[in-house]
Amino acid sequence: MFDFDNTLVDFHEASKLAFDQCFIDYELAQKSDYYQIYGEINAKVWEDFEEKKITAIDIRKIRFTKFLEQVGVTHLDGLVFNAQYLNNLIKFTTIRPEVQEMLTLLKNKYKLSIITNGLKEVQRPRLDQCEITALFDSIIVSDEIGVAKPDKLFFDAAIASVQEQIDKHKILVIGDSLRSDIAGAKAYGLKSCYINANPEAKVDADITISDVLQLNTVLEDMYIPVNCDWYDYLEICSMKNMDVEIQHKTENKVRIFRGKITNLKAKNKEEFALLSDGSRIRLDKIMTINII
Ligand SMILES: [Mg+2]
Repeated sequence: MFDFDNTLVDFHEASKLAFDQCFIDYELAQKSDYYQIYGEINAKVWEDFEEKKITAIDIRKIRFTKFLEQVGVTHLDGLVFNAQYLNNLIKFTTIRPEVQEMLTLLKNKYKLSIITNGLKEVQRPRLDQCEITALFDSIIVSDEIGVAKPDKLFFDAAIASVQEQIDKHKILVIGDSLRSDIAGAKAYGLKSCYINANPEAKVDADITISDVLQLNTVLEDMYIPVNCDWYDYLEICSMKNMDVEIQHKTENKVRIFRGKITNLKAKNKEEFALLSDGSRIRLDKIMTINII
């Protein structure tokens, strides 16, 4: 489950370009601190929204009304200015081709969702603008469902949108917001991947990466717990000392092992089958197992 802004696309850049374009559109002179002033107002408005102090309609009304007031522009309406900014935001949203390629690769292996806190008139058009809409099995926009991350109800809707029963521990939330994405995922019992320019940052996420492009490599290494039936079957093979043939994919190569499973062991939240030749296989790397 991917967050969108500042996870897949650079929101800061698109927003600044959209903001600048408004001054061209309205033939207004812009001073160097205007974007910062707007940024502070906008951050506060979104905070109030996430704390349910104001509605999504208020976001549209308040942010530019306050901004225009503060910079002394009296002849423009905040709501109209907001609509112009949103139009520009769609136009200026771009995705790096490498990110698009990575999503295309991931789509072959995983169900992909967008989980975004944003306004309904822009989020889907912005995904379309990036030409990535078709890559996602579901798209959840907070403004469309009336509840935002990190609210549990948002994650309820996100999970319900995937037309398949998926174990919670097999779901990874990828995002740049500690509050909405990472804490939201953790509270719901989902795994999380934090996007932060400083990957050393000490945060309570399962994975931290500096750029979403590292995700493909990280996922190769990440342990995906096997289901209980599969684990039980391996345990029976081990307990009954059965001779087995195991096909597994380790270090990106398909390999065959013939022999016995001597034991099953967990280490650092990963589970392994210990084998009669002294080697071990991580359980999620096992593709098939046959009794011989
Ligand atoms: Mg974000």
